[in-house]
Amino acid sequence: MTNQFKNYKLSNEIIDALTILGYTEPTEIQKEVISLALQGRDIVGKSQTGSGKTAAFAIPLCEEAVWEDNAPTALVLEPTRELTVQTKQEIFHIGRKKRLKVPDVFGGFPIDKQIQTLKQKSHIVVGTPGRVMDHIRRGTLILSNVKSVVIDEADLMFDMGFADDMRQILGEIKTNPRIMLFSATIGEAIEDMIERYLKEPVFVEVAITEETRIDIKQEIYEVEKASEENELNNEKYETFLHLLARENPDSCMIFCGTKEMVNVLCRKLRKDGVKCGMIHGDIDQQDRIRTVEGFREGRFRYLIATDVVARGIDFDNLSHVFNYDFPTGRETYVHRIGRTGRNGNTGIAISLVTESDQKMKSMVESYVGYELPVTEYVPVSKDEENAFWQRQNEKVVLKKKKGAEFNKTITKLSISGGKKSKMRAVDIVGTICSINGILADDIGVIDVRDSLTYVEILNGKGKKVLDALQDKTIKGKVRKVRLTR
Ligand code: AMP
Repeated sequence: MTNQFKNYKLSNEIIDALTILGYTEPTEIQKEVISLALQGRDIVGKSQTGSGKTAAFAIPLCEEAVWEDNAPTALVLEPTRELTVQTKQEIFHIGRKKRLKVPDVFGGFPIDKQIQTLKQKSHIVVGTPGRVMDHIRRGTLILSNVKSVVIDEADLMFDMGFADDMRQILGEIKTNPRIMLFSATIGEAIEDMIERYLKEPVFVEVAITEETRIDIKQEIYEVEKASEENELNNEKYETFLHLLARENPDSCMIFCGTKEMVNVLCRKLRKDGVKCGMIHGDIDQQDRIRTVEGFREGRFRYLIATDVVARGIDFDNLSHVFNYDFPTGRETYVHRIGRTGRNGNTGIAISLVTESDQKMKSMVESYVGYELPVTEYVPVSKDEENAFWQRQNEKVVLKKKKGAEFNKTITKLSISGGKKSKMRAVDIVGTICSINGILADDIGVIDVRDSLTYVEILNGKGKKVLDALQDKTIKGKVRKVRLTR
């Protein structure tokens, strides 16, 4: 089957990368955004996570990036650190055959390392507004070559208090860049921003289709409200655990209203022998990223989360979503349940509702345009319960990481010598291209550190290059060259 992305004006490197990623047909938002973006238009995209919106802007950004450029040509702003990492990975994969460098910058990680990375060649920078502003102030993020800016999940950016940082960043960019703004909802604050900073933007909206909604079975169970003394209401917890056992999902997300509740529920489930992980804003940055990775790989089945941190993070094939606490915003309900029933799969969204959630439930009903009838609770059977605990004790089978297909044909080599000995990417390219049968296209990302350089060799030619470099000189010397993975 030919890759339908060939219908766009995209270079072979981008088409090849998309094919490796398994993207052969553009999603609705991609159909709308890619051509407009390639024409250089400003865009406002109203769409949700799961629609393929990251690739919708990443494909044109990667297409437009020029490897020879040293300073970044695009800046992508994300509200959370998790989204920064996820978006960086998506852009990196799409731009991999063009050897694009896509550094990410966000708080909670040492700034020095980020400065080192930014000093090297970089093409597309992804970051959270606070840290991006920090780098701009320090002069470590060069803006003089920026041609495109993406503001992703704009409504969440405002909710998280990044309005001033965003305005400052846009004010600092003097190159009159094209702006693409994506948001699930477009309120007054975002309208103001569009008015002020975007130039004749095209509005693109990808609606939640009737089909998507029908694919998600929604169940509502009425429970007692937790009391002040008993944060973890037992009746609610027991009902939840029974529903979880009855459904026995392969993997699911469980949403709570507060960070405290996430902690309490996670602790209780673990005490009861259920393997789960949690993310919320107070958890250490590295742990959050590790948890998201672990969940993606299937190291544990259930992820308990607050809305803000979980928003936008893409997990494949979630069969279930649980609202342990009913959401406090009607759009939040749609976001949460939209994490299941993706890509034509069916999904189940189960919500627990207390007396005080009834008002919000009605608001959700008028928002989505259909009733959410209360489901009668049928206790879990002994067999169902046994099956659940058996699954809890099963050994996990790790899922393939995204981009794994790339890694099959890519070898990463380390070469002794780096910035301290004035090693430059061109020195490496020069020597490697002098090897018989190796072309510049076979070289991937080159990362020059202080006294070591990493280089990726593509197209399954790693062994050949490794062997040849054992006695070839790079910048006048035979170097120690090793395989790093
Ligand atoms: P996003 O809405 O950007 O979070 O993307 C949702 C998921 O769809 C991600 O796992 C992407 O890797 C995947 N995806 C994006 N575009 C395509 C495509 N054209 N074909 C198949 N999968 C895609």
